[in-house]
Amino acid sequence: MPPRIAVTRSSMPDFEEYCRLIAPLWESRWLTNCGANHEDLSRELEGYLEVGGVSLFVNGHSALECVIEAMRLEGEVITTPFTFASTTHAFVRHGLRPVFCDIKADDFTLDPAGIEFLINENTCAIAPVHVYGNVCDNEAIESVAAKYGLKVIYDAAHAFGVRKNGRGVASFGDASMFSFHATKVFNTIEGGAIASNNGRLHEDLAVWRNFGISGPETVEFAGGNSKMNEFCAVMGLCNLKRADVEISRRRCAFERYQERLEGVRGIGVPIDQAGVERNYAYYPIVLSPEEFGAHRDEVFSVLALNGIGARKYFYPLVSDFECYRSRFDSNATPVARKVSSNVLTLPLFADLSIADVDRICDVILMCG
Ligand SMILES: *Cc1c(COP(=O)(O)O)cnc(C)c1O
Repeated sequence: MPPRIAVTRSSMPDFEEYCRLIAPLWESRWLTNCGANHEDLSRELEGYLEVGGVSLFVNGHSALECVIEAMRLEGEVITTPFTFASTTHAFVRHGLRPVFCDIKADDFTLDPAGIEFLINENTCAIAPVHVYGNVCDNEAIESVAAKYGLKVIYDAAHAFGVRKNGRGVASFGDASMFSFHATKVFNTIEGGAIASNNGRLHEDLAVWRNFGISGPETVEFAGGNSKMNEFCAVMGLCNLKRADVEISRRRCAFERYQERLEGVRGIGVPIDQAGVERNYAYYPIVLSPEEFGAHRDEVFSVLALNGIGARKYFYPLVSDFECYRSRFDSNATPVARKVSSNVLTLPLFADLSIADVDRICDVILMCG
């Protein structure tokens, strides 16, 4: 049997280079709390992501929780059920009520046409997700938000380096959360960030992420602790140098998938969004069981039998989680429900060979 293919594989820098950059830490003994590497990485990411400010965090989820605290959000937030647990949990853990809006069938992002009906006097924010790196309809979303005075916080965990009409997505809305988890396009082992052009917000985040401590003898807020350490920041500095190369290598695998699967009856493949420069973070397919001749779960099992990891991502819908399902009805978001039942993300990482993509496609096509 050929070797196993995992669904993802972390990008890592040259070992010697990483060691060279961490070596000075044995002299400085400054391991966390805005060390030199932390500061360098923040500035470099501001340039790379084309945004006024980047605040770093221990992970993306904590970054999202921290921005919710710093913005002092209360009430209801309009969001999507077609996302990772983190997006919804972050709001719920801060006492907010998620209100689920359906997604678009072509790019799986929040459908702006559904937002306005869900707004009431308790609504404080909209939390859209750039699913698989597909960019949300930010113009439509932000125009509804402006009309009702709502904050827009993007979950941009999948959208590192993505640009739309020549502009980095990091500057959209009031703030964007990025994840630098080991499995993402760019990683700091664990890590995350809030990107925003609002300088005041970054000042607040710096206090909130460090126990609410704003001076040697001043503790302003009941903040948590979610600071990025120097070892992770160095990982980020090394990986950032390679980010463009990583993305172009992902692109080769992605394009091979498109060549093999586009036009196959019953397989929906990623669409091209006008004006968007992708990051090739994921390769999702949406199977139509009647037309393709096999259900997603069957394809998933056959891939597994062949040593190929795929992921039902995102399944189940957040509104169907044990912790939420008694409070929500996923029939209220039929598009999300249908996509979630039929989607499969295929292996995609920089080291994935074209031969492996072909092997994966052969197995899938055999199922139909
Ligand atoms: C990875 C991810 C997160 C959470 O990021 P962490 O860095 O793992 O905390 C949140 N939302 C989405 C959509 C993600 O994919």
